[in-house]
Amino acid sequence: RSKAGGRNAISFFQPSMQEAADQRLKLEQYLRTAIDKEGFMLFFQPQVDRSGVMLGAEVLIRWEQVEQGIVSPADFISVAEESSLILDIGLWVLKKTCQQIKEWLVMGIHVPRMSVNVSSRQFRQPDFVEQIKAAISDSQIPPALLGIELTESVMIVDIDDTVTKMKALKKLGVSIAIDDFGTGYSSLAYLKRLPLDVLKIDRGFVRDILTDTNDAVIVETIISMARHLKLRVIAEGVETEDQFDVLKKQGCLMFQGYHFSRPLSAVRFAEKYLANL
Ligand code: C2E
Ligand code: MG
Ligand code: MG
Ligand code: MG
Repeated sequence: RSKAGGRNAISFFQPSMQEAADQRLKLEQYLRTAIDKEGFMLFFQPQVDRSGVMLGAEVLIRWEQVEQGIVSPADFISVAEESSLILDIGLWVLKKTCQQIKEWLVMGIHVPRMSVNVSSRQFRQPDFVEQIKAAISDSQIPPALLGIELTESVMIVDIDDTVTKMKALKKLGVSIAIDDFGTGYSSLAYLKRLPLDVLKIDRGFVRDILTDTNDAVIVETIISMARHLKLRVIAEGVETEDQFDVLKKQGCLMFQGYHFSRPLSAVRFAEKYLANL
């Protein structure tokens, strides 16, 4: 567009950049209000085995906004990550997840492991492990019921700090997954050094697994590498029976995606998935 716009390109871009900046500021203010007024909710998406039995769930934040209804994290997490807002949101998700697990346990409901997404910025906080410990001890849940999902970006910054924190979390019994695996810049050498439990194959590779041989080869390679490194693998974004079939043929043991269930509110998740465990 800027090329086609020629000389006018600058005057074309300036107002929209201003607009974008205004919008971002407004969004930041809205997010602050949401933190203060408990405007966030947790949704839960099952992670299943080859027979469709739930083994765990991913915790996904939703924002209930007055004007727009339920807003997806895709529309606000990246903005939150540019300020300290992500730290407040991350802490809220962590505490709320532990409280929810506790609530279900108190009701006599069996709960599988719940994994929360942790932003790199949150993980880098010096007191991150303490935050996890506090959330677990405040809610008095078994630590093994909590998992965290980190992206590959934690592997490229301060690897020693990453190793130390992961070891401390592992000692507690909290499981660690690498999310969106294959899209970042992780070094294979670090995969061996880090005490990881799970690799989550990015849904971008799963999407075209039937039609794109490169994607199929990448997925198969990740599965086989994970097996040798003794890591579990979860295929993300499984939407169809055919994708599920191919993944099973490739030796994948755990799956997550719309084919099994969309993320559900706590009430619906408990009704559909926790009742018969
Ligand atoms: P993610 O951690 O990779 O989570 C998986 C995303 O894929 C979720 O989107 C989920 O709803 C979606 N998904 C699951 N199955 C399918 C499928 O079969 N097809 C398709 N097309 N999508 C599927 P969601 O909930 O919108 O979250 C988007 C991203 O926002 C997450 O990606 C994660 O990076 C971030 N996020 C969500 N909750 C939190 C949170 O509490 N804290 C932080 N820091 N990030 C979060
Ligand atoms: Mg995730
Ligand atoms: Mg993911
Ligand atoms: Mg993602």
